[in-house]
Amino acid sequence: MSEGMQPANFIEDIIMKDLESGKHKEIVTRFPPEPNGYLHIGHAKSICLNFGLAEKFGGRCHLRFDDTDPEKESVEYVEAMKRDVKWLGFDWGEHLYHAADYFEQLYEYAVELIKKGLAYVDDLSPEEIREYRGTLTEPGRESPYRNRSVEENLDLFQRMRAGEFPDGSKVLRAKIDMASPNMNMRDPILYRIKRVNHYRTGDKWCIYPMYDFTHPISDALEGITHSICTLEFEDHRPLYDWVLENVSVPCRPQQIEFARLNLSYTITSKRKLLKLIEDGYVAGWDDPRVPTIAGVRRRGYTPEAIRDFCERVGVAKKNSVVDIAMLEHCVREDLNRRAPRVMAVLRPLKVVIENYPEGKVEELEAVNNPEDPSMGTRKVPFSREVFIEQEDFMEDPPKGYRRLAPGREVRLRYGYVIKCEKVIKDEDGNVVELRCTYDPETLGGSTPDGRKVRGIIHWVSAAHAVPAEVRLYDRLFTIENPGDVEDFWNYVNPESLIVLKDCKLEPSLADAEPGSFYQFERQGYFCVDIVDSKPGSLVFNRTVALKDSWAKIQKRQDAQS
Ligand code: ATP
Ligand code: MG
Repeated sequence: MSEGMQPANFIEDIIMKDLESGKHKEIVTRFPPEPNGYLHIGHAKSICLNFGLAEKFGGRCHLRFDDTDPEKESVEYVEAMKRDVKWLGFDWGEHLYHAADYFEQLYEYAVELIKKGLAYVDDLSPEEIREYRGTLTEPGRESPYRNRSVEENLDLFQRMRAGEFPDGSKVLRAKIDMASPNMNMRDPILYRIKRVNHYRTGDKWCIYPMYDFTHPISDALEGITHSICTLEFEDHRPLYDWVLENVSVPCRPQQIEFARLNLSYTITSKRKLLKLIEDGYVAGWDDPRVPTIAGVRRRGYTPEAIRDFCERVGVAKKNSVVDIAMLEHCVREDLNRRAPRVMAVLRPLKVVIENYPEGKVEELEAVNNPEDPSMGTRKVPFSREVFIEQEDFMEDPPKGYRRLAPGREVRLRYGYVIKCEKVIKDEDGNVVELRCTYDPETLGGSTPDGRKVRGIIHWVSAAHAVPAEVRLYDRLFTIENPGDVEDFWNYVNPESLIVLKDCKLEPSLADAEPGSFYQFERQGYFCVDIVDSKPGSLVFNRTVALKDSWAKIQKRQDAQS
């Protein structure tokens, strides 16, 4: 920690005080996902926070899989999570842990609680346990098994482990206070019997420890100093502290809660995302529409943009919903600096330039990124037939329309001014081709007679065009807070994916590498799909459109204040 460093939030404040007072010499944090799905943008917040604190204060951050519930957990999820944390730019070094690796120790700590008279084996059924538990306004009742002797409890717990009892027939519970105003303290369950194969320990165990028992002990065994979690665990903190106080662990980590990240127009819950996948609303965990890290990576979001976003969101103590426009703004800002500009026609309309010599090709000079002159220029071929965007032509344009219309002029980006002489239609009356002329005196942005041509449109030479499929992604939901409705799947945006099969790209994109990103001029940022794109059959994803609604919101707010 350097002199004069200012805490950026209340967690840093706590950490700095602990370092100053000498309570800790080195800080140790952890990111503890349960491998029951893919990591999402909410997790990214927690990853950036935990790994970021370790970086900032010169400590370390562990990656620990909180794998105590084998039914929904798998190696696939573990591997995906590791990949995602790395992709975000963080490194746990040698500090990779699994709660399952502590099962033996956890068992011993449970035995310790029994010996201290602080845990007992309960034979009540799950329904009875719920019923005895009471409500927020009524105290609970004590189980008739609560006062079993230490010897009996030790014997029963050992036999639970040995597999003598059927699933769900007994549990181990902490003996705390059935009248506590905090429901979590009403003799919480510590162990349950479950004959489920665990991806890591196989069939070695038929009893599994509960999260509230496992988590504090795992933290303590790893020497975690600050155990940072989301607000819903605030009411669990007394139990976290109770466990650590009553078993002989080597240290006493401090639990600190912060507000989870919620994003508008999307969902950040592994359980709900799984529902969308299982029911076919999206194609999988890495569908570019879902806010998983795998999804946004495929969509073309960069780790830099995500880290920047997490930084800007900050760390708060009160839950709120962040506007997804802010995330999109961060993505745009990063790509704006780095993405080469190219021309791509998504919905092509053929234009024949009748006075341009057949067979002639000119190489026009185009700027790669006006934001960064060091990215240089490239040559774009121009010839007699080009494609333009269907929407850049209107037969009967409204006032103020600056693009192409019968008898009107428009400039082809980096090239000549063309004039629409004739419109060719099919039998249904659809415009299928334009006949134009070009003015050879208009290269380089000027016109010989000083006449104004205000519209500039992008284009691709037909003879040189590279075909591609382009997938236009948009927000996953039509409503702002899909997390608030029961049947959130009914609000999936039907236009969240539009596939265009017949797109035309400038030839410099022929060898575009999967994962590389570009700005398609006037349209947005696009990347080469890392799953489906192949040489010769390119697939691009729209990462984000150009229009920045967040910048607009900001401007309005600035004007108001
Ligand atoms: P989900 O509901 O998606 O399964 P979870 O909290 O159950 O989320 P875990 O795998 O248990 O998922 O989470 C790992 C860590 O990430 C926890 O410390 C949790 O607090 C944190 N986390 C999860 N979701 C968010 C979020 N939306 N914002 C910030 N942190 C989060
Ligand atoms: Mg969870």
